[in-house]
Amino acid sequence: LEEALRQAQKMEAVGQLTGGIAHDFNNVLTIVAGNLELLEMRLNDRPDVKRLASAASMATSRAERLTQQLLAFSRKQQLQPEPLDLNAVVIGIRDLLRKTVGERIEIDFRPGTALWQCLVDRNQVESMLLNLILNARDAMPDGGRIVIETANAQPKPSQVLGLPADLDSCVLLTVTDSGTGMPQEVLDRVFEPFFTTKPQGRGTGLGLSMIYGFVRQSGGHILIESTEGAGTRVLIYLPRAMVKIIPGAAAAHRQVSPGR
Ligand code: ADP
Repeated sequence: LEEALRQAQKMEAVGQLTGGIAHDFNNVLTIVAGNLELLEMRLNDRPDVKRLASAASMATSRAERLTQQLLAFSRKQQLQPEPLDLNAVVIGIRDLLRKTVGERIEIDFRPGTALWQCLVDRNQVESMLLNLILNARDAMPDGGRIVIETANAQPKPSQVLGLPADLDSCVLLTVTDSGTGMPQEVLDRVFEPFFTTKPQGRGTGLGLSMIYGFVRQSGGHILIESTEGAGTRVLIYLPRAMVKIIPGAAAAHRQVSPGR
């Protein structure tokens, strides 16, 4: 618990710091990007110079993506949870995920049947999946297989280490890869903001800390199992969307409607 508290405090401090920097930096980038665009338009008769401006433009876009990521990381309070069918979410971005990992990696989706809806922010779930898939891809330089599974889960706190007692019914999402796995020293630090083992320019070290923040804020739980040389499995327990009790009205409760 102490460890979780320290982690949360660290996340908050880093979140505030990065949020401030990312915001100001993003404003500067917007000006740079806008001017580059104008410059490119005026250079149609100078293809050699235009190429230089385009290269600068592309680098600016990359920087903008990074600041967006940083902003998303620090902007934690703006979640918009809605009842979601996780299977539909995965199917909705399956093509994007496949394109992202390339041809040497197979993505196998095993949807759970009669899956409960879960109560989470759609954008965050999509970005979480994308981040998990990117990590799996990076762990499999020679190709391999990623299995995405969903299932209804009723974990017992005693069965799943560290799982809070209030999470007695939830939807479980697992992403398993056949990649390099991680040694214990890495596994111990994966949720730390800015912790990365990837070469400079490739990893930000924000993926898993962002996911951790989102899952915990949604009232869910995340576990990672990893074996060096064999692969990694990320288990994410998301809260089930179900009966809502309206305070004050004794017998008034309503079922969150299926579908959307
Ligand atoms: P980044 O991907 O930018 O490094 P993350 O927070 O997503 O940041 O991940 C932190 C580190 O955790 C990675 O650098 C990598 O060492 C390790 N890691 C995460 N996912 C996996 C995975 N599926 N297989 C092996 N190592 C992983």
